[in-house]
Amino acid sequence: MAADSPTRASTGRFYVKRAVVPFEEDLHHEFKGHRCLAVEELAPFSFHDYDRKKRSKRAASRAINSFLNSGQGGTVYLGVSDDGSVIGLPMTQYQKDHVVISLKDLLEKRYRPTVASDQYQLDFIPVLPPGVHSFDEVSRSHPALSFDVELRRRPHQLRTHFPCWCDKDLRAIFHNGHICPEYLIQIHIKPFESSVEQLFPSDDTCSSDDDDDGNDDSLDTILKLQLPNVYEDEEGRSYFRLQASSLEYSLEDIRMMVSSKAKDYYQPIVRRWERQLSRLKKEVSEAGLET
Ligand SMILES: [Zn+2]
Repeated sequence: MAADSPTRASTGRFYVKRAVVPFEEDLHHEFKGHRCLAVEELAPFSFHDYDRKKRSKRAASRAINSFLNSGQGGTVYLGVSDDGSVIGLPMTQYQKDHVVISLKDLLEKRYRPTVASDQYQLDFIPVLPPGVHSFDEVSRSHPALSFDVELRRRPHQLRTHFPCWCDKDLRAIFHNGHICPEYLIQIHIKPFESSVEQLFPSDDTCSSDDDDDGNDDSLDTILKLQLPNVYEDEEGRSYFRLQASSLEYSLEDIRMMVSSKAKDYYQPIVRRWERQLSRLKKEVSEAGLET
Protein backbone atom coordinates (compact mmCIF):
# COMPACT_ATOMS: atom_id res chain seq x y z
CA MET A 1 0.00 0.00 0.00
CA ALA A 2 1.98 2.95 -1.30
CA ALA A 3 0.23 5.55 0.86
CA ASP A 4 1.22 3.63 3.98
CA SER A 5 4.90 3.49 3.16
CA PRO A 6 7.69 5.90 3.94
CA THR A 7 7.75 7.99 0.83
CA ARG A 8 10.41 9.67 -1.20
CA ALA A 9 9.53 12.97 -2.75
CA SER A 10 11.53 15.42 -4.79
CA THR A 11 12.13 17.51 -1.67
CA GLY A 12 13.54 14.53 0.25
CA ARG A 13 12.33 11.66 2.33
CA PHE A 14 9.38 11.87 4.73
CA TYR A 15 6.91 9.64 6.58
CA VAL A 16 3.14 9.91 6.41
CA LYS A 17 1.43 10.44 9.77
CA ARG A 18 -0.68 7.49 10.97
CA ALA A 19 0.61 5.33 8.09
CA VAL A 20 2.11 1.94 8.94
CA VAL A 21 5.81 1.43 8.23
CA PRO A 22 6.54 -1.46 5.80
CA PHE A 23 8.49 -3.54 8.32
CA GLU A 24 7.94 -5.04 11.75
CA GLU A 25 9.96 -5.06 14.95
CA ASP A 26 12.59 -7.73 14.45
CA LEU A 27 16.32 -8.39 14.66
CA HIS A 28 17.08 -5.03 13.02
CA HIS A 29 14.11 -2.76 13.83
CA GLU A 30 12.79 -1.37 17.13
CA PHE A 31 9.86 1.06 17.55
CA LYS A 32 9.39 3.58 20.36
CA GLY A 33 6.54 6.00 20.79
CA HIS A 34 8.71 8.38 22.84
CA ARG A 35 12.16 9.95 22.68
CA CYS A 36 13.66 8.86 26.03
CA LEU A 37 17.20 7.74 25.22
CA ALA A 38 18.73 7.01 28.64
CA VAL A 39 17.02 5.30 31.58
CA GLU A 40 16.98 8.50 33.69
CA GLU A 41 14.75 10.18 31.12
CA LEU A 42 11.88 7.79 31.91
CA ALA A 43 9.36 9.26 34.33
CA PRO A 44 9.55 7.57 37.76
CA PHE A 45 5.87 6.65 37.48
CA SER A 46 6.33 4.70 34.23
CA PHE A 47 5.76 1.31 35.88
CA HIS A 48 3.03 -1.25 35.32
CA ASP A 49 0.16 -1.17 37.83
CA TYR A 50 0.34 -4.96 38.24
CA ASP A 51 4.09 -5.00 38.91
CA ARG A 52 5.81 -1.95 40.34
CA LYS A 53 9.23 -3.37 39.38
CA LYS A 54 8.38 -3.62 35.67
CA ARG A 55 8.53 -0.50 33.57
CA SER A 56 5.66 0.20 31.19
CA LYS A 57 8.16 1.60 28.70
CA ARG A 58 11.87 1.24 28.02
CA ALA A 59 14.48 3.79 27.10
CA ALA A 60 15.90 3.52 23.57
CA SER A 61 19.33 2.72 25.05
CA ARG A 62 18.48 -0.94 25.62
CA ALA A 63 17.75 -1.59 21.92
CA ILE A 64 20.75 0.51 20.82
CA ASN A 65 22.97 -1.54 23.15
CA SER A 66 21.61 -4.83 21.78
CA PHE A 67 22.19 -3.73 18.16
CA LEU A 68 25.80 -2.83 19.00
CA ASN A 69 26.51 -6.06 20.86
CA SER A 70 24.90 -8.34 18.32
CA GLY A 71 27.16 -6.85 15.65
CA GLN A 72 24.54 -7.00 12.91
CA GLY A 73 23.40 -3.39 13.21
CA GLY A 74 19.85 -2.10 13.42
CA THR A 75 17.68 0.99 13.65
CA VAL A 76 15.60 2.40 16.50
CA TYR A 77 12.62 4.45 15.29
CA LEU A 78 11.41 7.03 17.80
CA GLY A 79 7.91 8.26 16.97
CA VAL A 80 6.48 4.89 15.87
CA SER A 81 3.97 2.96 18.02
CA ASP A 82 4.33 -0.74 18.81
CA ASP A 83 1.96 -1.66 15.95
CA GLY A 84 4.14 0.22 13.44
CA SER A 85 1.95 3.34 13.08
CA VAL A 86 3.82 6.59 12.50
CA ILE A 87 3.01 8.93 15.41
CA GLY A 88 5.64 11.62 14.82
CA LEU A 89 7.21 13.75 17.54
CA PRO A 90 6.73 17.53 17.51
CA MET A 91 10.15 19.13 17.86
CA THR A 92 11.75 22.55 17.61
CA GLN A 93 15.34 23.04 16.45
CA TYR A 94 16.36 23.34 20.13
CA GLN A 95 14.80 19.97 20.92
CA LYS A 96 16.52 18.38 17.94
CA ASP A 97 19.80 19.80 19.29
CA HIS A 98 18.88 18.26 22.66
CA VAL A 99 18.48 14.79 21.12
CA VAL A 100 21.82 15.10 19.28
CA ILE A 101 23.63 16.09 22.49
CA SER A 102 21.81 13.52 24.62
CA LEU A 103 22.67 10.63 22.25
CA LYS A 104 26.31 11.73 22.12
CA ASP A 105 26.39 11.89 25.94
CA LEU A 106 24.91 8.40 26.18
CA LEU A 107 27.07 6.60 23.62
CA GLU A 108 30.32 8.54 23.67
CA LYS A 109 30.56 9.26 27.41
CA ARG A 110 28.52 6.69 29.33
CA TYR A 111 28.82 3.44 27.39
CA ARG A 112 31.79 1.21 28.22
CA PRO A 113 33.72 1.03 26.00
CA THR A 114 32.65 4.31 24.43
CA VAL A 115 31.01 4.17 21.00
CA ALA A 116 32.84 5.88 18.14
CA SER A 117 30.83 8.62 16.43
CA ASP A 118 31.13 6.86 13.06
CA GLN A 119 29.43 3.73 14.45
CA TYR A 120 26.00 5.31 14.52
CA GLN A 121 23.87 7.78 12.59
CA LEU A 122 21.06 10.03 13.80
CA ASP A 123 18.42 11.38 11.40
CA PHE A 124 15.28 13.47 11.84
CA ILE A 125 12.83 12.50 9.11
CA PRO A 126 9.82 14.85 8.70
CA VAL A 127 6.38 13.36 9.37
CA LEU A 128 3.74 14.93 7.12
CA PRO A 129 -0.07 14.77 7.26
CA PRO A 130 -1.67 12.47 4.65
CA GLY A 131 -1.96 14.22 1.31
CA VAL A 132 0.94 16.60 1.95
CA HIS A 133 3.91 15.81 -0.25
CA SER A 134 6.50 18.35 0.73
CA PHE A 135 7.94 19.51 4.02
CA ASP A 136 7.89 23.04 2.57
CA GLU A 137 4.07 22.92 2.50
CA VAL A 138 3.88 22.62 6.30
CA SER A 139 7.03 24.49 7.24
CA ARG A 140 6.52 27.78 5.40
CA SER A 141 6.56 30.66 7.91
CA HIS A 142 6.48 28.17 10.76
CA PRO A 143 7.30 29.89 14.07
CA ALA A 144 8.64 26.64 15.58
CA LEU A 145 11.26 26.40 12.83
CA SER A 146 12.86 29.75 13.56
CA PHE A 147 15.61 29.74 16.16
CA ASP A 148 18.05 32.03 17.86
CA VAL A 149 21.71 31.24 17.19
CA GLU A 150 22.74 32.38 20.68
CA LEU A 151 20.01 30.32 22.37
CA ARG A 152 21.24 27.18 20.59
CA ARG A 153 24.41 27.44 22.70
CA ARG A 154 22.44 27.20 25.95
CA PRO A 155 23.25 23.91 27.77
CA HIS A 156 20.50 21.29 27.86
CA GLN A 157 19.44 19.31 30.92
CA LEU A 158 20.48 15.72 30.31
CA ARG A 159 20.04 12.49 32.30
CA THR A 160 16.76 13.59 33.90
CA HIS A 161 13.04 13.10 33.36
CA PHE A 162 12.38 16.75 34.25
CA PRO A 163 11.56 18.93 31.23
CA CYS A 164 14.49 20.83 29.77
CA TRP A 165 14.22 24.52 28.84
CA CYS A 166 13.78 23.43 25.21
CA ASP A 167 10.69 21.39 26.16
CA LYS A 168 9.21 24.38 28.01
CA ASP A 169 9.88 26.46 24.88
CA LEU A 170 7.75 24.04 22.83
CA ARG A 171 4.96 24.24 25.39
CA ALA A 172 5.00 28.02 25.00
CA ILE A 173 4.66 27.61 21.21
CA PHE A 174 1.62 25.34 21.70
CA HIS A 175 0.23 27.72 24.34
CA ASN A 176 0.36 30.53 21.78
CA GLY A 177 -1.80 28.47 19.44
CA HIS A 178 0.95 27.42 17.01
CA ILE A 179 1.71 23.92 15.83
CA CYS A 180 5.14 22.40 15.47
CA PRO A 181 6.67 20.25 12.71
CA GLU A 182 6.80 16.57 13.57
CA TYR A 183 9.65 14.15 13.03
CA LEU A 184 10.50 10.51 13.24
CA ILE A 185 13.91 10.07 14.86
CA GLN A 186 16.04 7.29 13.37
CA ILE A 187 19.07 6.04 15.28
CA HIS A 188 20.96 3.68 13.04
CA ILE A 189 23.67 1.41 14.45
CA LYS A 190 26.10 0.24 11.78
CA PRO A 191 26.96 -3.47 11.55
CA PHE A 192 30.29 -4.58 13.00
CA GLU A 193 33.02 -4.62 10.36
CA SER A 194 35.73 -7.14 10.99
CA SER A 195 39.24 -6.21 9.96
CA VAL A 196 41.63 -8.65 8.31
CA GLU A 197 44.28 -9.67 10.82
CA GLN A 198 46.55 -12.68 10.60
CA LEU A 199 46.69 -15.01 13.57
CA PHE A 200 50.46 -15.44 13.05
CA PRO A 201 51.67 -12.08 11.73
CA SER A 202 55.37 -13.04 11.84
CA ASP A 203 57.36 -13.16 8.57
CA ASP A 204 58.59 -16.55 9.68
CA THR A 205 55.70 -18.49 8.21
CA CYS A 206 55.82 -21.89 6.71
CA SER A 207 53.93 -22.54 3.55
CA SER A 208 52.40 -25.63 2.17
CA ASP A 209 50.36 -26.70 -0.78
CA ASP A 210 46.64 -27.07 -0.50
CA ASP A 211 45.70 -30.26 1.26
CA ASP A 212 43.24 -32.88 0.10
CA ASP A 213 40.32 -30.77 1.33
CA GLY A 214 41.40 -27.94 -0.96
CA ASN A 215 42.24 -25.77 2.06
CA ASP A 216 45.31 -23.59 2.06
CA ASP A 217 46.72 -24.38 5.50
CA SER A 218 49.81 -22.19 5.52
CA LEU A 219 50.07 -20.24 8.75
CA ASP A 220 50.06 -16.87 7.03
CA THR A 221 46.57 -17.48 5.64
CA ILE A 222 44.92 -18.11 9.00
CA LEU A 223 42.96 -15.04 10.02
CA LYS A 224 42.25 -14.02 13.57
CA LEU A 225 38.65 -14.37 14.75
CA GLN A 226 37.10 -10.90 15.00
CA LEU A 227 34.16 -10.35 17.34
CA PRO A 228 32.31 -7.09 18.07
CA ASN A 229 32.97 -5.29 21.36
CA VAL A 230 30.55 -6.04 24.16
CA TYR A 231 29.25 -2.67 25.36
CA GLU A 232 27.81 -1.87 28.77
CA ASP A 233 24.99 0.66 28.78
CA GLU A 234 24.49 3.57 31.20
CA GLU A 235 23.42 1.09 33.90
CA GLY A 236 26.39 -1.23 33.37
CA ARG A 237 24.20 -3.82 31.60
CA SER A 238 24.73 -5.60 28.29
CA TYR A 239 21.97 -6.68 25.93
CA PHE A 240 21.85 -8.86 22.83
CA ARG A 241 19.21 -8.87 20.13
CA LEU A 242 17.10 -12.00 19.76
CA GLN A 243 14.41 -11.54 17.08
CA ALA A 244 12.37 -8.51 18.26
CA SER A 245 13.67 -8.55 21.84
CA SER A 246 16.71 -7.13 23.61
CA LEU A 247 17.82 -9.65 26.24
CA GLU A 248 20.19 -8.95 29.10
CA TYR A 249 23.28 -11.17 29.23
CA SER A 250 25.32 -11.75 32.38
CA LEU A 251 29.13 -11.79 32.29
CA GLU A 252 28.99 -15.58 32.43
CA ASP A 253 26.54 -15.68 29.47
CA ILE A 254 28.92 -13.47 27.47
CA ARG A 255 31.97 -15.57 28.41
CA MET A 256 30.21 -18.74 27.27
CA MET A 257 29.01 -17.14 24.03
CA VAL A 258 32.50 -15.85 23.12
CA SER A 259 34.04 -19.19 24.03
CA SER A 260 31.53 -21.05 21.84
CA LYS A 261 32.15 -18.74 18.85
CA ALA A 262 35.94 -19.14 19.25
CA LYS A 263 35.53 -22.92 19.39
CA ASP A 264 33.34 -22.99 16.26
CA TYR A 265 35.88 -20.87 14.38
CA TYR A 266 39.20 -22.40 15.48
CA GLN A 267 38.29 -26.07 15.89
CA PRO A 268 38.13 -26.87 12.13
CA ILE A 269 41.51 -25.11 11.66
CA VAL A 270 43.06 -27.12 14.49
CA ARG A 271 41.65 -30.34 13.01
CA ARG A 272 43.14 -29.57 9.59
CA TRP A 273 46.53 -28.90 11.20
CA GLU A 274 46.32 -32.13 13.15
CA ARG A 275 45.69 -34.02 9.91
CA GLN A 276 48.56 -32.17 8.24
CA LEU A 277 50.91 -32.97 11.13
CA SER A 278 49.91 -36.59 11.09
CA ARG A 279 50.67 -36.80 7.35
CA LEU A 280 54.07 -35.14 7.82
CA LYS A 281 54.95 -37.52 10.65
CA LYS A 282 54.05 -40.42 8.43
CA GLU A 283 56.18 -39.07 5.57
CA VAL A 284 59.18 -38.59 7.88
CA SER A 285 58.73 -42.05 9.31
CA GLU A 286 58.51 -43.62 5.85
CA ALA A 287 61.54 -41.60 4.66
CA GLY A 288 63.45 -42.81 7.71
CA LEU A 289 62.64 -46.41 6.96
CA GLU A 290 63.80 -46.07 3.38
CA THR A 291 67.22 -44.61 4.22
ZN1 LIG B 1 16.91 20.62 26.05
